[in-house]
Amino acid sequence: MELRLYNTLSRQKEEFTPINDVVRIYSCGPTVYSYAHIGNFRAYVFMDTLRRVLKYNGYNLKHAMNITDVGHLESDADEGEDKIAKAAKKENKNPYEIAEYYTNIFLKDFDKLNIDRPEIICKATDHIKEMIEYVSDIVKNGYGYETSRGIYFDISKLDKYPVLSDRKVDEQIAGARVEVDKEKRNPEDFALWIKAPKNHIMKWESPWGLSYPGWHIECSAMSSKYLGEQFDIHTGGIDHIPTHHENEIAQSKGRCGKIPAKYWMHCNFLTVDGGKMSKSLGNIYTLDNLKEKGIEPLAYKLFCFSSHYRNKLNFTFEGAIASNTSLMRLKEGYQKHLNGTDEVEQSLIEEFEDKFHKAINDYLNMPIAMSVVWDVIRYNKKSKDLAKLLLKFDEVLGLKIDEKVQNSLEIPEEVTKLIEERKVARENKDWKLSDELRDRIKEKGYIIKDSKEGMQIEKA
Ligand code: AMP
Ligand code: ZN
Repeated sequence: MELRLYNTLSRQKEEFTPINDVVRIYSCGPTVYSYAHIGNFRAYVFMDTLRRVLKYNGYNLKHAMNITDVGHLESDADEGEDKIAKAAKKENKNPYEIAEYYTNIFLKDFDKLNIDRPEIICKATDHIKEMIEYVSDIVKNGYGYETSRGIYFDISKLDKYPVLSDRKVDEQIAGARVEVDKEKRNPEDFALWIKAPKNHIMKWESPWGLSYPGWHIECSAMSSKYLGEQFDIHTGGIDHIPTHHENEIAQSKGRCGKIPAKYWMHCNFLTVDGGKMSKSLGNIYTLDNLKEKGIEPLAYKLFCFSSHYRNKLNFTFEGAIASNTSLMRLKEGYQKHLNGTDEVEQSLIEEFEDKFHKAINDYLNMPIAMSVVWDVIRYNKKSKDLAKLLLKFDEVLGLKIDEKVQNSLEIPEEVTKLIEERKVARENKDWKLSDELRDRIKEKGYIIKDSKEGMQIEKA
């Protein structure tokens, strides 16, 4: 079945045809200076869905995602402090500790969302040599020049800039609040490599003295190292279009004359009250914040499927709580089919499968795909064949629909303590105390049920 993807480069849906038999993808990964929020994770849920849809269509993948642990300045356009260095100062830690700490938490959250891990996860600081080589090639080809601040890319050498976005370079400059750097040949020239001030911690020897990479060069260096000069798909959030991805394209043209990816795919924002969820605006929630309210990470993933990835999605707790209930219904619905004994026609299964496949192949239309899933769940006959079909759909959803319904009750601290005490009493075979504790827990509004599968707790 034809797979169509929306390509930001052509501004239209296009049939997907891979360059060769393994689909090569590059995704811009997190800047690990703080906890990733659920807005960031919307972009990675989208990336996961893309991977899963490609696999569903029978493709093998080679996918690289970077971890930005140096070089991402406060503004995407080379202004301000390095985000990791700033966090290190604030937390009084070494920048490598900061990066490692937040990378580990990011990857744990990644797994909680059952995001299919890219084949390659690569750190910027492990690729300094490749970046220096990349910058040197750009300079050798006449697209880069040195100033007292660093090595800059000369955009006037390009046939066209920008190519991904419609923005007018002059408009951007007129509206910008940045100080004009008189050494730059063109106001839009951007930093490839930055000379480090004396007190800068993360810096490396280079042909241009002690210095550190610009943010854009890391993605160019790592994507070309792992995927070659030209690969199939590049993903990121829409905030990457005007600067980061534009500059990655410029760098690649300056080095080898090619646009690095054939298809550019961008996920729209998760918003709060209509505005972007972002660390700088201070309106963020993490997966842990959701869990505190009894919302499972996978329920958040299901929430993401309520809107097409190219549309904005507004986050509300009511919406996420509703998704939590929906996830439980989905799992219960799967179990009902699994235990069902009805027969269903093969043609019905094929019809459902065809509709689902068409939806995901129409540039990952997950809201439509989910409506097919719900049609199967609600189908009046309960059949093992439909359970099998749901499991097949779950290869794309990654919602673990065959896992037991999680107990996502918010249990107060005092009740948790009583539960722990009761566990100890039972280990000591003190049944009298165990029963007393059960009654006290009941007085607090919670019922304990002991079964072969272990203890379960419910609201009274
Ligand atoms: P960062 O760690 O800031 O480099 O961002 C990591 C990823 O999250 C990038 O792909 C961003 O485009 C994406 N992102 C950041 N904020 C949001 C948001 N509110 N909604 C969707 N994606 C976002
Ligand atoms: Zn990137």
